[in-house]
Amino acid sequence: MGTYAATIAPMVDLYEYIVDVPDFPEPGIIFKDITPLLASPAAFLQAVDEMAEPFLVSGVDIVVGIESRGFLLAGSIAERIGSGVGLVRKPGKLPRDTVAVTYDLEYGTDTLEIHTDAFPEGARVLIVDDVLATGGTLAASRELIVKAGGVVVGATMLLELSFLDGRSRFDDPLHALLVY
Ligand code: AMP
Repeated sequence: MGTYAATIAPMVDLYEYIVDVPDFPEPGIIFKDITPLLASPAAFLQAVDEMAEPFLVSGVDIVVGIESRGFLLAGSIAERIGSGVGLVRKPGKLPRDTVAVTYDLEYGTDTLEIHTDAFPEGARVLIVDDVLATGGTLAASRELIVKAGGVVVGATMLLELSFLDGRSRFDDPLHALLVY
């Protein structure tokens, strides 16, 4: 094997790094545990490369990650795109002025917040999260970013549960690496 070929990392099957956990956090839910993927240097590198790729030339100013697993992916994706990073967080976590959006869950509601000055007016924003399920979190994050003055360029997700059709709640370009 030549030196060049030896330095090319083989592609990995990312599906092999996602572990199904039945009945977590409650009966009937199959939780997609992504921690084995995060723990593998080859899988993690390939995942963030492939999540960033469709948006490399989209003029993204800031990559916004959704708490908390979205943060782990957002930093590496921002590095690839050459942008900054922003945080969408649960209530009470951000220390300065925030805008908030409250959205409906199956039972009750949830709220997400972002700093009012997380990015300049008109900044082009890419949203990042680990799992797209019902799409409520993504739709709320989109609303939050628009409220804070951003222009949503799209979203990139590690994994999509397509049978829940969360995609129908988001009109901008949406890239998902692993589709179930
Ligand atoms: P949703 O608002 O229904 O699209 O849910 C998305 C959020 O909930 C993401 O931030 C995920 O981290 C988490 N989530 C929802 N369903 C699952 C699942 N089956 N496995 C792992 N995480 C999930």
